[in-house]
This record gives sequence, C-alpha cells and structure tokens, in this order.
Amino acid sequence: MSDSTTPLSVLKRVFGYDSFRGEQQAIVEHLVAGHDALVLMPTGAGKSLCYQVPALIRPGTAIVVSPLIALMQDQVDALRELGARAAFLNSSQEWETIREVENAFARGELDFLYVAPERLLTDRCMRLLERGRIALFAIDEAHCVSQWGHDFRPEYLGLSRLQEQWPDVPRIALTATATPQTRDEIAQRLGLTQARHFVAGFDRPNIRYVIVEKNDVRRQLLGFIREEHAGDSGIVYCLSRNKTEDTAEFLCREGIDAMAYHAGLQAELRAQRQARFLREDGVVMVATIAFGMGINKPDVRFVAHIDLPKSVEGYYQETGRAGRDGLPATAWMAYGLQDVVQQRKMIDDSTGDEFFKRRSGAQLDGMLALCETVQCRRTRLLAYFGQQSEPCGNCDVCLTPPQTWDGTVAAQKILSA
Ligand code: ADP
Ligand code: MG
Ligand code: ZN
Repeated sequence: MSDSTTPLSVLKRVFGYDSFRGEQQAIVEHLVAGHDALVLMPTGAGKSLCYQVPALIRPGTAIVVSPLIALMQDQVDALRELGARAAFLNSSQEWETIREVENAFARGELDFLYVAPERLLTDRCMRLLERGRIALFAIDEAHCVSQWGHDFRPEYLGLSRLQEQWPDVPRIALTATATPQTRDEIAQRLGLTQARHFVAGFDRPNIRYVIVEKNDVRRQLLGFIREEHAGDSGIVYCLSRNKTEDTAEFLCREGIDAMAYHAGLQAELRAQRQARFLREDGVVMVATIAFGMGINKPDVRFVAHIDLPKSVEGYYQETGRAGRDGLPATAWMAYGLQDVVQQRKMIDDSTGDEFFKRRSGAQLDGMLALCETVQCRRTRLLAYFGQQSEPCGNCDVCLTPPQTWDGTVAAQKILSA
C-alpha cells in the first residue's frame, strides 16, 4: 500500500478528518484486507466512513444498499462534493439517467454506486454488476432484514444472494439498532456467518433520561421546556398528525417557537420547516416519527415523547437525536396507562397478521418494562441492547429513587403507636 492509500491518508485527504473514531480504523482495515464485517454502532457514531474509506482504497466500485431514496441522494451529493465519483439507482429516476449510471459503472468510472434493495435484486441489475468490478458490498440499515426489528423490509431478505454470487467480495452490514437477537438474525439472513462483529458502546452518557407519569401532558411538556430548556432546540414526538398540530399550536400560544411536522404536510412545507429547524437556534419541532431520519443537527438539547414509542429501538433512535455534540441533553417522556391501552388496541385493530401482532406486542412490552423499571433507566436501556452498565446517577430513577414500601418501618410504626 503506498502512503497515499492508507486508511488514515484517505481519511485526511478526502474527508478532511484528522483521526478515526472508535473502531472505525479496525473496521476499515478488516475490509481492505477482504474480510466481512457486521458493524453495530449508534446513530451518529460514523458508520458511513467504515465502508467509504475502504471503497476508495480497494479497486472497483463499492455497491451500497440503502433503503431510503431521500438519504441516498444526500449521501451521493456529499460524496461528490468531496470529489468522489458517486451515483445511485432507484425507482425515482428517468430512463436516460439510469442508462448513464449503468454505463459509468460498467466502464469502471464510479467509486460508489448506491442502490435500493429492490432494484439491486432485479435481473437487470444483477447482470449489470457482472459487467464491472466490485470493491465491496455495504448493506446499510441492516436491521431491515430482521422481522423482529422495527423496520422490516422484505427486499432485504434477498440480499443473501450477494454472498452466493460474489463469495470473494467483502461485505459489510451496518446498523444502529440491534439487540443480540437481531444481531444473530442479521448475520444468519445475510449469510454473514464468517463476518467479524464490531460492536460499539450504545451508551450516550450526556443524555439524561427522564420518564414522568402523564396527567396533563401539554402542561407538563410546557413546564419541562420552560424550566429546563427555555430557548433550546428540541424535538417533541407525538403519535398522530393531529396531535403534532395541536401541540405545536399550544406551545406557540405559550410563547414557544414551535412548528408541526408530519408526512401529511406538503413536501414543500416540510422541507421549509426542516430547513428552519436545522438553520435556526431554539426551534421546537413537534413531529411524528416521520421526522428525524438522517437529520444531523448536533445541538438538539432535548427530545420529548408525549406518546409512548412503539419499541425500545424506536425510543433509543429518537432520543439519540439529542446531544450529538456531546453536551448535556435530556430525553424526556410522559407515560400513562392510557398509552398502553391505546397501543394495545391499535395492535389488536391493525390489519397485520398474527406474527405482526405478536411482534408488536413484544415490542410494546419491552417499552413498558423501561417505563416501569425501578432500576436506572440507562442501565435498563443498555441491557436491552445486551450491554452491562452501572447505575448512571443522572436519570430520574437514580436521582429520585421510587418509593418502595418498607414493611419493617410500617410495622414498627404500628407497634409503637
Ligand atoms: P451513522 O451512519 O453512524 O449514523 P454517519 O456516518 O452519518 O453516522 O456520521 C455522522 C457524522 O459524524 C457525520 O457528520 C460524519 O462526517 C461524522 N464523522 C464520522 N466519523 C468521523 C471522524 N472520524 N472524525 C470526524 N467526524 C466524523
Ligand atoms: Mg448511517
Ligand atoms: Zn440512572
């Protein structure tokens, strides 16, 4: 390897960073050497570089499988800005564009080709890949292959074909959300049985977790923002579109700079609100979970849930949008039994099959266990991801341990009365 193609020199020259973070370097070297990897790292930890650096070192084109068309465009734009040769193939494109991208790949003129999974598995695409040289396969958001996960995509199941057809091309699967169970499922379903697992810590020590009992939730939310995060940027998650609008209106009336965001709004308005949230300080976005994927705003100081998330994975991902800059941030949630009743009903009434219902019920149970715990929230959350930790001293349970009924004291009182 010449000096200009070592991982560190590529990191500096192309990406402009001084050093790798965490296990990035080990992962990059593992791939450059031609081995498979399964990477579990929290959102924002820097998974992309784990395949982008080796892609630029190994000869040929890196094929990146990514489920979200919107994110694909962003990533390709970002790579092009850095001077890399990148393109994507998905269902939103004109015929002409598709032809151009295909030809560029076949001629060996691409460093990166991003492809949606359903596109990749077409005969046309499989034949195309035979015509070029492949540096590596990167499978982003790999938890989509897990039926037990929160974001199952049937197309991901077909990706095991890559291993059969290109056994010598290294593959890297990446995800931010994986319990030990999902991890095994990913490895098995993608045929990554020989892959080395790289598991980063999921702890976000600067986030303070607080779960309060729900009564008058809008007032509680307002109190929380005023007392702890006046003037800060934050995200408030609600379950329904109507509720995002009502809550944003309420907060505005109370003098908080809030906006609603959900998938029912016109694309233009959504883009405008998102841009404002990213650009300005102190804006509160009241949103459904449609908001947040791929949003990289480092100084979000709080994430509030006024409805119960559907799974611990979802909760972790959503709260993980707070405090990316490493400074103190709060994950606040109001939770009441009504939430449980409502969600059980939603599951029962849903059109999903038995499997879906069972899975949703199990996910809800996991979430309830976190709400009802008398243990440190952080310990409980990390345990869900298979990681052990000491009580954090910073969450609501650590700071104000729940009252436990002490029989001895009670008995003494009665006896001495
Ligand atoms: P993930 O996919 O794990 O959520 P990304 O790959 O999108 O995370 O990276 C999140 C941010 O961290 C990006 O802005 C990226 O440029 C930055 N980043 C990643 N690795 C490094 C590094 N070694 N040094 C500095 N910044 C980094
Ligand atoms: Mg990512
Ligand atoms: Zn704690």
